[in-house]
Amino acid sequence: MAAPCPLCGGTEHEKVSSRDRHGNPLVSVLCLGCGVITNDPIPTDAELAAFYTRDYRKSYKGAAIPSKRQVWRNFGRLVAHFEANTGFYRAPITGLDLGAGSGEFLFLAKVKGLHFIGVEPNEDYAHYCRDMLGLDVRTNLLEELTFPEASFDMIRLSHVLEHMRDPVRSLKTLSSWLKPGGLLYIEVPQTDDEARRKLRGRMFHFGHIFNFDPFTLRLAAARAGLVEAPDAAARLAGTTGTFFVKGDAVSPPPDACRANAARARSFMADHNARTVPAPKDGNAVSRLVSTLAARSAEALAARRFKTHRAIAEHFGARLVG
Ligand SMILES: [Zn+2]
Repeated sequence: MAAPCPLCGGTEHEKVSSRDRHGNPLVSVLCLGCGVITNDPIPTDAELAAFYTRDYRKSYKGAAIPSKRQVWRNFGRLVAHFEANTGFYRAPITGLDLGAGSGEFLFLAKVKGLHFIGVEPNEDYAHYCRDMLGLDVRTNLLEELTFPEASFDMIRLSHVLEHMRDPVRSLKTLSSWLKPGGLLYIEVPQTDDEARRKLRGRMFHFGHIFNFDPFTLRLAAARAGLVEAPDAAARLAGTTGTFFVKGDAVSPPPDACRANAARARSFMADHNARTVPAPKDGNAVSRLVSTLAARSAEALAARRFKTHRAIAEHFGARLVG
């Protein structure tokens, strides 16, 4: 790896994996300065554009529109998110949902009277949002977007930042689009949790260039001049889904960064040394059983509805009810 770590400036790395989750060659390295895990090499803009236009759907999502079970699950999680964070979602809000996916957030935001624009690079998903859910969703690559400074009260970035080849640069751009006091919600997969939960070798993906843990997510945000919103910091500590505001961000000292790298080396060594997952909550078998039970319960619940739209309306009514 040639370039210094964009999060800590470190130049020392250690290889933690040589295969992606499908068994294809993909080198992932851990920064010994801060613990963030990245693809090596980091793909160029041109390589990423080619990947997303050609390969994204078949290698990642596997379906042109989401299953009703998936939609049911997404809506359930988002209703819980809105209920847990009501203080942040008071109208009027003009917002941007970058990486709108299958539109569950946008649908519920609209129900709550919040005005969000959606952007989704996957054309099938964007069509689904517009046609099935009646949402304002544009099809753009995120890198192509520009908005005037201070356009939004809130920007939402759910499962997007890990796809960015230069997350600090991207966060600085997004931060400039926020109004004073505006909020940036960032949610990414939690690498330390995945290392515990997933089977050995099932973690990494070409499209997930940066693999964050709670520390490195906040470090990336700090590098872009973002601090965790006071109302979120204590409540959402230890997670990789939280709210940020522009502020006098103080980057953690190098010692704290290196201590996080030591933690990351340890969870990756555990992951690479064992054959069964070791989730936080219970053993692997009971976890698998409860996952399967939850999935069939979701599938059964979703099957009661004739259309995706009907599921959306069911959850919309729950949110306002
Ligand atoms: Zn680093």
